[in-house]
This record gives sequence, C-alpha cells and structure tokens, in this order.
Amino acid sequence: MVAKATSTDVDRAVEAAKQAFLGEAWSGLTHSQRGRLMMRLGDLIAEHADEIAEFETRENGKLLREMAGHLRIVPKWLYYFGGWADKIEGSVLPVDRTDTLTYTRHEPLGVVAIISPWNSPVLITMMMVASAIAAGNAVIVKPSEFTTAGPLAALRLAEQAGFPPGIINVLTGAGDVGEMLVHHPGIAKIGFTGGSATGKKIAAAAGSRLARCTLELGGKSANIVFADADIDAAEAGALAAIFAATGQTCIAGSRLLIQEEIYDTFLSRIVQRANAIRIGNPNDQNTQMGPIATQPQLELVERFVSEARSSGARILAGGKRAEVPGLAAGLFYHPTVIDGVPNDSKIAQEEVFGPVLTVFPFRDEQHAIEIANHSRYGLAAGVWTSDLKRGHRVAHKLQAGTVWVNTYRAYSAAAPFGGYKDSGIGRSNGRESLFEYLQTKTVWCELGNEIHDPFVIRTSGDH
Ligand code: NDP
Repeated sequence: MVAKATSTDVDRAVEAAKQAFLGEAWSGLTHSQRGRLMMRLGDLIAEHADEIAEFETRENGKLLREMAGHLRIVPKWLYYFGGWADKIEGSVLPVDRTDTLTYTRHEPLGVVAIISPWNSPVLITMMMVASAIAAGNAVIVKPSEFTTAGPLAALRLAEQAGFPPGIINVLTGAGDVGEMLVHHPGIAKIGFTGGSATGKKIAAAAGSRLARCTLELGGKSANIVFADADIDAAEAGALAAIFAATGQTCIAGSRLLIQEEIYDTFLSRIVQRANAIRIGNPNDQNTQMGPIATQPQLELVERFVSEARSSGARILAGGKRAEVPGLAAGLFYHPTVIDGVPNDSKIAQEEVFGPVLTVFPFRDEQHAIEIANHSRYGLAAGVWTSDLKRGHRVAHKLQAGTVWVNTYRAYSAAAPFGGYKDSGIGRSNGRESLFEYLQTKTVWCELGNEIHDPFVIRTSGDH
C-alpha cells in the first residue's frame, strides 16, 4: 500500500525542494563535490541492485533477468552524469569590443518535477534525475502509481549518499499528483516520460505558464530488414525489438519491414520463433516473455488485435491470451504476428505497447523509407543490411531520434535519446540532456573608465 500525496504534500515538497536548492548545503557545494555525491548514490544503488530489481518485477511483471540488467546499468547514469557535474563550462564571448568582458554561465533551473512511467521505473526515472541533479537542480519525482516501490527504494539511498535533505524528493500517487506538480508555479521544469496523450497535456499546461518541459513519449518504430542482411542477426534483432519486455517498451520495433525477395522466408522464421517463445513467471530464469503489466493494458492489446482481425488482417501467430499452468490469474498474451494490413490502418499506426508485431513487405530503399516515415511517431528505427553505405543512407533519411544499424535496443548514458514528431521534445542522455536542465546567463562586465553617451546604444564594435 502506497500513500497518495495530497495537494498539501505537493506544496510542502515544492517548498522543501526550493529551500534545499537555495540552501548553502547544496548551492555551496563545489561541482566536483556534487559529482561525488552522485557517484556515491550510484555505488549504493549497485549494492542494492538485486533487491530493487525484485521490487520492479513484482510491480510490473517484467522478467527479473531484464530488471536486474536495468539495475546493473542504472549506476552508470550516476557515474556518467556525476562526471559531467564539474565539466559544465561557460565561455568567454568574442563580442568585438576591447573594453568589455562578456561570458556565459550555465545555471540550474531550480525545482524540477520528474514524472516517470511503469515500464522501466528506476532506469527511466534515473535517466532524468541524473541529468537534472548533475546540472545542480533539486528534483521531485512522481513515479507511476503502478511502480512506486523501485524508484522509492533507489532514491531513498540519496540520504545515505549524503545529499542534503530536500534535494531529491519522491511524491507517490496517481496521475493527479503529476498534474498538480505540472501546474505548480514553484516547478521550473518538467521532465516527463510516458504516453504521447499525457505528454501533450503536460506540454499545454507547462506552456500556459511558460514552464519548460522535456518529453520522452511513445513510438511505433520500424525495423527494416533488407534482403542482403545477416539473416540470423536480423531475426534475433526483430524478436528482441518487439517481444523482449513483452513489447512494453517505448522503443518496441512494432513494425517489421521485410524486403520482398525474402518476405516469405524471413516472415516464416519470425512466426516460428514467436510461437516458440517461453511465456511464464517473470521470476523464472527460463522465461523469455512475462505477463502484460496491468489488466487495462491487456484489454487494450486484445482490442487492437480484434479490431485488426475484423478489418481483414492475417494473424500469423498468437492473437489471443496465453494460459500458463499454475498461473491462472496471470495476464499473459501470446506473441502476435500480423500482416496484410494497409500502412494507414490503426494497428500499423498506433502504439499497442504489447507483444504485437505488424509486418509489411517493401520493394526497395525508397519504399522502405516511405513506409517507415509514414507515422506520427519518430522515436527509433532499425536497419538490417550488409551494405554499410546503405545503412548510413537509410539512417539519415529516417525520421527518428535513434536509428540502429545491425543492432536494436542499444542505449547508453552517453548517447542522446529522444523523439522526432509525436515521440517527444528534447533529449535524455548525453551532454545534450544536461542542457535540458540548465539555463544560460550572459554576464557583461565593463573594463574601461570612459563614460558613454547614455542616449546611444553601444553596438558591437561601436566604441
Ligand atoms: P502515462 O502517460 O499514462 O503515465 C506516465 C506518468 O505520468 C505516470 O507517472 C502517470 O501517473 C503520470 N501521469 C498521468 N497523467 C498525468 C497528468 N495529466 N499530468 C501529469 N502526470 C500524469 O504512461 P504509462 O505509465 O502508461 O507508460 C506508457 C507510455 O510511456 C507508453 O506510451 C510508452 O511509449 C511511453 N514511454 C516512453 C519512453 C521514452 O523514453 N520515450 C520510455 C518508456 C515509456 P500514473 O501512472 O500514476 O497514472
């Protein structure tokens, strides 16, 4: 049972974070001291990784192996961004004057709200928290109501790491708590990862009071397999893209594009592999695909597939709930492969967020790019080919924030991540994400003793 924050709690958290942000215990730290606190938090999370991963699996049903993998890499975000804390440099500007020193400072924004989803609760939360803290902000985290224990367990270690009280806060509760934060005048910025519909509401609310936001939203990513690809690698990549994590990832390669020459053979391999996936208890090391996280999500997947079926789609694998012996109440769904739908059909255009793959044939490079880019989303894409020139050419033409060539689902704290089009605004990870949580100040300092005419603007070179 998790407490549900009230509007009073939200006010208190914002005030506590504001005082902590302004307080000497935080603002008086040197940049490297701030970085070291982050690294200590990374070490502590590494020490508690197994226990936090168990919380995550218990709450969202994803494989314990997968969640343990996430927890092994979460500390890297704290190490990487902890390393950035003392490398945030301004610059001296060549303003074309000899009597002025003009320079920039990159300063934190203040109190930042971090709102995260249920599918990768700790990793996604920490991706945003690490950039915000490295930049010197205070944060208030609102994890998904479905997955609170993992983020709470990880972030409570901040106290032990030595962060001043009030710099890292967690408010638990449902979407209305997120909404209160988004509307709160004390919140300077919202870092949000979740669905595009929620993201649009947040952007509108933030815009109405000119607060900033970074939005990491949904996707409908195309995974393109050319006839010259290493077929075994492409097969493994196509399966990982959609069936790992039961398809509940924003980067799911939910549209598989196969070149005509190999369409039938490659598709039948995918169908065979999909039918052989071991569905079951996410705590079992042999399980390859766990349940869908929530009952409403399972019902949504069912609706998508039944609508596709009644509009004439071919269901080549799955298309129904799965029963797992001894786990009658489990929310299991068979890995599903569909083809024979037009590219503008609902199943081809909307994010299902489940193990449902829609497959299309394509003629050539240009045709593949057209199909892939015909989407309101633009989070990620995959290209499988032995021709590296083509790999780069296609990568450059795809409207997506990340393109993987001959791999899929690779990510790193150092690699900017985010969406084109409806998949988001701004970037997580890498140097770029730090600047999502900083603002630039320009300082002009007069060096000369001359008194200037007060009624004439001093333009560059005008002295
Ligand atoms: P939601 O958009 O439903 O929720 C995300 C978070 O926002 C949750 O903490 C939720 O709280 C909160 N929330 C809900 N309504 C509001 C509101 N009006 N104002 C402020 N906060 C609100 O997404 P899901 O949790 O269902 O996650 C799935 C979605 O996330 C998918 O679309 C997926 O593609 C996307 N996603 C994107 C990623 C990316 O990096 N681009 C990565 C992972 C997922 P509560 O859960 O308590 O309702």
